[in-house]
Amino acid sequence: MAWADDEDYYRILGVDRNASQEDVKKAYRKMALKYHPDRNPGDKSAEQSFKRAAEAYEILGDPDKRKRYDTYGREGIKGFETHFTSFDDIFEHFSDVFGGGSIFEEFFGGRTRTRTAARRGASLRVDIEVDLREVSTGVEKTIGLNRRESCEHCLGTGVKPGTSPKTCSSCGGRGEVQRTQGFFVLRTTCGKCGGQGKIVEHPCQMCRGSGRVAKRHHIKVQVPAGVEDGMRLRVAGQGEAGENGAPSGDLYCDVHVKPHPIFQRQGSDVVCELPVSFAQVALGCEIDVPTLKGTITKVKIPKGAQYGDTIPVKGEGLPSMQGWGKGSLLVRVVVETPVRLTEKQEELLREFASMENSNLSPKRKSFLQKVKEYFE
Ligand SMILES: [Zn+2]
Ligand SMILES: [Zn+2]
Repeated sequence: MAWADDEDYYRILGVDRNASQEDVKKAYRKMALKYHPDRNPGDKSAEQSFKRAAEAYEILGDPDKRKRYDTYGREGIKGFETHFTSFDDIFEHFSDVFGGGSIFEEFFGGRTRTRTAARRGASLRVDIEVDLREVSTGVEKTIGLNRRESCEHCLGTGVKPGTSPKTCSSCGGRGEVQRTQGFFVLRTTCGKCGGQGKIVEHPCQMCRGSGRVAKRHHIKVQVPAGVEDGMRLRVAGQGEAGENGAPSGDLYCDVHVKPHPIFQRQGSDVVCELPVSFAQVALGCEIDVPTLKGTITKVKIPKGAQYGDTIPVKGEGLPSMQGWGKGSLLVRVVVETPVRLTEKQEELLREFASMENSNLSPKRKSFLQKVKEYFE
């Protein structure tokens, strides 16, 4: 079976667009069983279907990603898709579907056993803090972390170079031992070799046989423009090294967007509150307003603007993660009542008040009208 690259994920899993999360999971489990590599040895198209189903489930199995996909299609999940390169990758990634006492262990005991013999490295999680300005441009962050790496001395095998491990005498290299109890045959991990099937008599001195050594590392992470607070970025293969040369885990970066003293984010728009005086809004004016880029832009406050009015400055917001267009800078008018007037100012205001008629204040006029109607 050939898949088009833009095949709909719902069609791949054969579920309805409004299927429940549980149904999506069931559909995936069914497909994974059908196309499982152990059931279809050497069948390239089954292998392909197995991977495609995993890719579809990676998106539809996660309510957040599914929502993005529903709203924006493939564009909306750019950077979130996972292209699985190996089956172990898939099993590791969806351990909640396949893990602990799962359907796969019942069917494919052999595979899970070989997997424990060379366990994949642990995934790591770090926090990354960015400010709004970095969100607007995207940024490369360097993070320092301690992680276990493959030992260079023994190339991750844990075996002293020049020596080789010997087959475990207790389990004959199978890694597990059988025991009969009533009707049942219980298979347990071999205690002597710990399931490895081999005994290392001469462990590598550098890593004391673990095949891994702890190292401080600096990793560059690309944080995309438009990133949202709480998003999780996956950096494939940058977790800890696996045991005995097994693949590395992934690095997950939780993004935190720092609050900005001037700008508040509203989706791809940013809001900036602009304090203006009563006279400035009454007469209209032009005011310098800072932008996220750090430049100054002139914003025209129209005559008679009201408290809370927003004036959009197009293109000065944040880029959208979907890659089209930029949001606006929304300048919100905040009128300040003057305090500590000079004698002269007060005199002028009194004069102004005496000439004030209801036409000058449209809101007050309609308010008085409502009061009148209410008491009539
Ligand atoms: Zn070593
Ligand atoms: Zn053994």
